[in-house]
Amino acid sequence: MREPHTRRRNVLKTIGAGAALTGMSTVTGAVSDDRRVEPEDVELPYPDTKYVTVGDDVYDAVNHHWWLLTLDRDRIDELLRKAPVASDDVQTHSDRIDSLRSTYTVEQSEVTSTRAGEEHTYHLTDRRVSSLSHDRQVEVAETAGAVLDGFAAEGDSQDVSTNWYAKTHRKQAAYVLDEFNITNSYRDTLRSNTDDPDQFGCKSCQVDWLPVPIPDYVEDAIGAAVRGLGNDSEAKHPPFHFYLGDPPSVTIAGYEISAPKFGGAPSEAQYFVQQANNAYTASEKARNLGYAAHYLQDMSVPFHSGAVWEQLNYSPTYTDPTNFDPRRDIHYAYEEEINENLEDAVYYVGDPFVDDFKSGYPYYVSDVAQGCKDLSTFAGKYGPDIFESVLNGGKDSPWEWNDNGRNVFEKTHNCMSEAGNYLRGFLYNHNDYNW
Ligand SMILES: [Zn+2]
Repeated sequence: MREPHTRRRNVLKTIGAGAALTGMSTVTGAVSDDRRVEPEDVELPYPDTKYVTVGDDVYDAVNHHWWLLTLDRDRIDELLRKAPVASDDVQTHSDRIDSLRSTYTVEQSEVTSTRAGEEHTYHLTDRRVSSLSHDRQVEVAETAGAVLDGFAAEGDSQDVSTNWYAKTHRKQAAYVLDEFNITNSYRDTLRSNTDDPDQFGCKSCQVDWLPVPIPDYVEDAIGAAVRGLGNDSEAKHPPFHFYLGDPPSVTIAGYEISAPKFGGAPSEAQYFVQQANNAYTASEKARNLGYAAHYLQDMSVPFHSGAVWEQLNYSPTYTDPTNFDPRRDIHYAYEEEINENLEDAVYYVGDPFVDDFKSGYPYYVSDVAQGCKDLSTFAGKYGPDIFESVLNGGKDSPWEWNDNGRNVFEKTHNCMSEAGNYLRGFLYNHNDYNW
């Protein structure tokens, strides 16, 4: 594996003269100064991390099944062999992959430097090739389903438990709340309510989360697929726990969906901030801010802010053009790793994620909805990369996720660092920060 642990604490490149870089508690004098910072002023734990993303030309050609073109070819056969299908079918699927990969060849032909790192974008080598026909899309979806079945059959089931939701949301909040001048009971109420939205899903549930002109039955099918990424008994995941500000355009049931956005997390968070502002008691305020914080936290997870079509796995059949086959094992395998390495990290993760939270400053967050959008824009860029890496490496072998030098955990450290700073900045708007 790559030399992994050269990371250091967040270093502020420009924060006004005299600001201490190590340990805010040692800062003396001018304690009431507002030392909030802009994201551009904060260096990420891994500013040079490399990540892949997918060009619109690729989505146009093969929809969200682009990963069949980019995944290690032997790995695909390995997954097909593990799928519960007859060996003749394995051969059929393997032949289809070969044919697909000879029609559509991709390469990382665009490299851009962004705040999130070095972005490598997959493009078609020949953009004149036409998109998959409907019949071929049905076949490709069937084959993709078999590959994903093989992935699901690998190792133990990693369906995430209530543990993840409760622990991760609450702990992240606790790390940051330690920096505020608030009472213990206020802190406890806020912290202990951050996981509740996974039980109730949404409260306002008003916003138009997919504001594109498509028939209701198509939108309903997409909404049901999003809910399928959750689990009614443990974690509800309606579209209000997701947000992509610039989703790729895909074609569903013949409708090109090129939404100006996808998901309702910012407006749901905003709703709870209004409730907090109207609260009669401190505990009611803390509870509603805890709810709002949940949606902001979700945005820092690249599978809530990116790679959503990949997870929803649109899989049309000859009889049902709106069929989806949502897959959540990649999402859950990844979140499980975040949970397990929060306070005590294994070697391939590097420092525990708590360190990313403990070393930051509040960002300027104009309002929670904008904070959600900004954090989503950041973390969502990593979605396709992490999706591909987990699929390549296997859900039970996260040390293999560093395939091709693309380190899933570098990106996760960056996301955790951003989550901490956005959380601080959001809470700063409502509570007294202890500089
Ligand atoms: Zn959630």
